[in-house]
Amino acid sequence: MKYDPEFETDVAVVGGGPAGTALATLLVQMGHKCCLFERDEFPRYHIGESLIPNTYSLFDKLGLLPALR
Ligand SMILES: Cc1cc2nc3c(=O)[nH]c(=O)nc-3n(C[C@H](O)[C@H](O)[C@H](O)COP(=O)(O)OP(=O)(O)OC[C@H]3O[C@@H](n4cnc5c(N)ncnc54)[C@H](O)[C@@H]3O)c2cc1C
Repeated sequence: MKYDPEFETDVAVVGGGPAGTALATLLVQMGHKCCLFERDEFPRYHIGESLIPNTYSLFDKLGLLPALR
């Protein structure tokens, strides 16, 4: 593969679940170039219906609260 500076990145995050996407979002917000690799096609089937209140401050930091509401 030929080198392309457009795809140069500071951090490579592997896995686009809650942990990987939160980390990648925070890194980009901090001004880093970040590349996220996910093996599955999204949207994927995923069980989960509840969030503990403690997650709200992180969702707020990530700028996701309006979408969640
Ligand atoms: C049945 C069930 C119900 C749940 N219900 C809830 C709930 O109601 N509320 C709640 O808060 N939590 C719930 N959880 C827990 C929640 O799903 C996990 O805590 C959360 O998904 C963990 O996030 P994660 O990013 O660490 O891992 P994951 O969500 O597992 O994400 C990891 C990602 O990495 C990708 N990946 C792995 N290997 C590679 C690779 N080599 N290359 C590229 N990509 C890769 C995977 O495809 C996946 O998308 C539930 C879990 C289960 C099993």
